[in-house]
Amino acid sequence: MIHIPKEEYHYDQKAFHEFKRLYKLINHSVLYTTSDLEGNITSVSKAFEVLSGYKESELIGKNHNLFRNPNTPDEFYEKMWSKLKTNERFTGEVKNITKHNIEYWLRLIIEPIFDENGIKIGYASYRENVTHTKKLEYIATHDTLTDIFNREQFNVMLDIQIRKAKRYKHQFALIMLDIDHFKKINDTYGHLFGDSVLFKLAKLLENNIRIDDIVSRWGGEEFAIIMSINKENGAKILAEKLRKVVETTNFSTKEKITISIGVGHYNQNETKAEFFEKVDNALYQAKKLGRNIVVES
Ligand code: GH3
Ligand code: MG
Ligand code: MG
Repeated sequence: MIHIPKEEYHYDQKAFHEFKRLYKLINHSVLYTTSDLEGNITSVSKAFEVLSGYKESELIGKNHNLFRNPNTPDEFYEKMWSKLKTNERFTGEVKNITKHNIEYWLRLIIEPIFDENGIKIGYASYRENVTHTKKLEYIATHDTLTDIFNREQFNVMLDIQIRKAKRYKHQFALIMLDIDHFKKINDTYGHLFGDSVLFKLAKLLENNIRIDDIVSRWGGEEFAIIMSINKENGAKILAEKLRKVVETTNFSTKEKITISIGVGHYNQNETKAEFFEKVDNALYQAKKLGRNIVVES
């Protein structure tokens, strides 16, 4: 509860009545908390009690890190404290957990609170529950079977790379890969088994690219990867590594599962369509040359 300073309002009953009405509205609709300088909770709104799953009595005096999701990186909080320590307003999005370990997303605003002498005494936080928006965003950008980026999102990311390449001479490459004889895998082991191969392959690709590279399901049993380039580690070397990793992985099939790969470096003068065509042709060549091969164009 946020406490009403009764005395000051008693002289004007009408204003006091109006204040109580607004207070009630805010208390039940705004996800609001205040804390001391160390982040220990000093008040919470009813709306926040309901969202967090904690009663007010369980929260007062506890630290805000009670809501922290273990997956939120330390940098988020470091950035937050560095703003607050210099009396700036902090805004950010964070995933928290309720008392019952349910995750929820918040858009968060935190501001310092000062007393009447201008001395900082704590912080006030306002939040918006953006869990549904985040879920929709995820569904719109990810492939449901493999949980990696879908084609639409990949296209958005590729456009960004092309813009960066044109403006700042940023270098990157595109890898397109296609499973060899996948129809036969489906025919022999069934479509559901085929799905599990696609899932496993997506995880394998994710685990074998670098942190800045982006992998997506381009469609069917084709995957596309954007790779940023540095001199020591060309795209063809990574493509070759991926080819080998897939070839030596046990997918619980009698026959080996292999992939054919086309690789191309982006050249500043080409359009997106030309770039795609170049890499797609390389993939086509890899198939023609007998599959389980990397071709760079
Ligand atoms: P190639 O070596 O020439 O690539 O031979 P292929 O048999 O892999 O031929 P192609 O790439 O043309 O065939 C793709 C097959 O992938 C056909 C389709 O049934 C299967 N496929 C596409 N999407 C899915 C999916 O979501 N799940 C499963 N199980 N199979 C899929
Ligand atoms: Mg295909
Ligand atoms: Mg194929």
